[in-house]
Amino acid sequence: MTNIILLGPPGAGKGTQAQKLVDQRNMVQLSTGDMLREARTSGTEMGKMVAGVMDRGELVTDEIVIGLIREKLEAGGDHGGFIFDGFPRTLAQADALGDLMTEMGHKLDHAIELAVNDEILVERILGRAADAVAAGGTARADDNEESLKIRLMAYYKQTSPLLGYYYAKGDLTSVDGLGTMDGVASEIAAVLD
Ligand code: AMP
Repeated sequence: MTNIILLGPPGAGKGTQAQKLVDQRNMVQLSTGDMLREARTSGTEMGKMVAGVMDRGELVTDEIVIGLIREKLEAGGDHGGFIFDGFPRTLAQADALGDLMTEMGHKLDHAIELAVNDEILVERILGRAADAVAAGGTARADDNEESLKIRLMAYYKQTSPLLGYYYAKGDLTSVDGLGTMDGVASEIAAVLD
């Protein structure tokens, strides 16, 4: 069992790479963003509570996301390991994850940073919104320029300190997130193998 965190700003490709790992290594993707969107769709109290915060591009409380992750870890199951995607996003979440993993007898193997350039990132996310609309769907409510700025700011203020945190623990590896999808995937594979 290999447990990893994918770190990087919104649009860096964490979800795409997580999906590949799920397909190729039977790993389980734990995306707090997906869990929160699901809570909104199913109309739970928690879903209603976080809707405005998410649409603005701000972070929901540590308590909520830590609770979501705890539930998934407790569910257990037989698989190749966990991929934490979009979690942790604050130092408090990182500490809580460390405690949860210890409590469950798991170990965190790698924190992998998908490093990207900001300008390309903004183009990517706005492109993702445009593609969704062109395909007849709807863009994520937070894939617009205003929310994006706030999401990027949240990343730099609250999440980027985690790079130092995992570096200090000896767990951090950076890969170039701007390569092709397969190129990034093989860099990640090299870290895992
Ligand atoms: P994502 O799909 O990972 O970009 O997450 C979408 C939104 O969900 C974020 O902009 C936050 O509002 C919220 N969110 C997701 N994960 C977290 C987290 N670990 N901590 C706080 N808020 C989160």
